[in-house]
Amino acid sequence: MSEKFKVGILGATGVVGQRFIQLLENHPQFEVAALAASDRSQGKAYAEACVWRLPGEMPERVKRIVVQPPAPPLDCDFVFSSLPGEVAKDAEESFAKAGYPVISNSSSHRMDADVPLLIPEVNHEHIALIDAQRTAHGYDRGFIVTNPNCSAIVIVLALAPLQARYGVTSCVVTTMQALSGAGYPGVASLDAADNVVPFIGGEEEKIEAETLKLLGQLGNGRIEDAEMLVSAQCNRVNVSDGHTASVRVKLSQPASLDQVRDALGSFTSLPQELKLHSAPARPIIVRDEIDRPQPRLDRDAGNGMSITIGRIARDNVLDYRFVALGHNTIRGAAGAAILNAELLLARGYIRL
Ligand code: NAP
Repeated sequence: MSEKFKVGILGATGVVGQRFIQLLENHPQFEVAALAASDRSQGKAYAEACVWRLPGEMPERVKRIVVQPPAPPLDCDFVFSSLPGEVAKDAEESFAKAGYPVISNSSSHRMDADVPLLIPEVNHEHIALIDAQRTAHGYDRGFIVTNPNCSAIVIVLALAPLQARYGVTSCVVTTMQALSGAGYPGVASLDAADNVVPFIGGEEEKIEAETLKLLGQLGNGRIEDAEMLVSAQCNRVNVSDGHTASVRVKLSQPASLDQVRDALGSFTSLPQELKLHSAPARPIIVRDEIDRPQPRLDRDAGNGMSITIGRIARDNVLDYRFVALGHNTIRGAAGAAILNAELLLARGYIRL
């Protein structure tokens, strides 16, 4: 492709916004053209508005872009949104109404009946909801697509191959979530150091609800939730990046330990077939060492787009248990949204 799509980023100065900018540098199909954030940042050059907190330099091409309000018009073909939920709701709707595809990280629209909650490896067929959404809201070119909560995406990537082969009837999950999941400055250092905080507002409800929608079936223009029981408990732990989930599952059909391991480790899907730019060759990496996965060692697997699963074992209460880990601001946020955009482009929903 000779001409790249011009991309706007809403919430460009935040933890996820900076990841978008980092991941989009040298992207073959997309280039950052417009940036938006709060009135604290508006009117300033990005280099002045943003304290860059990722390793490496702020990309040269964004430094002089002047930060604008998160409202249309922006000089771009579509927008990525990483706005706080309470701001995202109206802002994203106004962009969709103004004709912009909105590829969002925020939770505001995830559970809307006509908004795809998308993991391209898991439920790519859900993008057909866009047609119903456009009709219902009178959107012409615009629409809203969301990626899931940063823990839900790790859990559901792990459940999807088991659900497809054997069915999953119950899932009990305990998360250990990184500090960067709370944005910047996030959790106060005196709360984080030497500590585990057993509460993350709204997180358990999001994981429980989003899992059922993500693994649900599309029929008659709507999603039928997966028939599965999900129970989640979430903890904030003193880790910079990388969410870990201890998962126990009950399957509908019997499967051996080898079969479970094979279902997870051999999993590939449409993004790998289409060779989408951000799709990891292996969405799930299974590790057999007794003490993996670990955030520091495994969060960057597949450029942060693979999840890593280890400790697969039979469980005394449910059928199997394992530990899954993924990078919360890459696979759980900016990378997930970019992969969604690549799929939407491949499927003709994003056009020049
Ligand atoms: P963050 O670091 O706090 O960044 C928030 C961004 O939104 C900043 O660019 C900020 O701009 C902007 N903003 C704040 N209030 C605004 C307002 N009233 N109007 C316009 N812009 C405003 O948060 P984050 O971690 O990047 O999270 C962003 C979104 O992604 C949230 O909805 C979050 O739930 C979701 N998410 C986060 C993660 C993660 O791992 N962090 C993962 C998945 C999803 P200023 O700098 O100008 O204040």
